[in-house]
Order: sequence, then C-alpha cells, then structure tokens
Amino acid sequence: MKYKIICSCGHEIIIDVYGETLKHEKKLLFYRENECPDCLIRSLEKQEFMKSLPSLVGSDKQIRWALQLREKHINLLRRSYEESCCNDELLWLIFFVAKLTDASSFINAEMSGSSILGFYSNLYRSKNIN
Ligand SMILES: [Zn+2]
Repeated sequence: MKYKIICSCGHEIIIDVYGETLKHEKKLLFYRENECPDCLIRSLEKQEFMKSLPSLVGSDKQIRWALQLREKHINLLRRSYEESCCNDELLWLIFFVAKLTDASSFINAEMSGSSILGFYSNLYRSKNIN
C-alpha cells in the first residue's frame, strides 16, 4: 500500500509498505521520525558524520572496540548501499545502525559469523519495523 509521508526534515516522500495493515502504522512512524533519503545522503556525505554519532554504552574495553567496529560497519553498509544503486531501505538501515548506542550490538554483529548486513537487517526488523 502506498503512503505519503512527511519526514522529520519536512520533505514529503511516498513509501510502499507491504505486509499486514496493522503493522503499517509502526513502519510509517519510523519513516516520519527519520529524514528523507535525500537528506540522509547529505548527512552521510558530511565529513563530520562519524564524529556526530552518539556515545556508546558498555565497558571501556567494549566501547573502544565497538567504536572501531561502528566505523567499519557503517563504511561497509555504505558500500552495499552504493552497490545496490541506492536502495532507500539500506540508507535507513545505515542510520538505524548509526543511532545504536549499545557497544554490544556492534560486537555481536562482528562476531555473528553471518554477514554484517544480514545481522543489522534482522536487528532493524526486530526493533523497528516488524
Ligand atoms: Zn529531507
């Protein structure tokens, strides 16, 4: 079903949402709370993007490691996004990952054994859009 949404940046986008209608509201809320793809790309391209990310929660050792992993994983997701010829879902996934504050999330992604993209996609689906 197609929905017209005003994103947090004030721009209007059209989103196609699949699945049970009852779950649509939660998905739409997620898009409303985020910026539109154009604005997200602009934030991502800014030099200070990595520095603007939130502080992490965990032990000192976990945080030190997770900070390195966060940068590595975001760069990796960004490459997937560019290779996907700009799939907006991947762009939202990048920003979902960028807003994670739990050091263990990044460590679990690294240790999961599956693909980083697969790990975060599952997390994204379970936390936001389910
Ligand atoms: Zn926008």
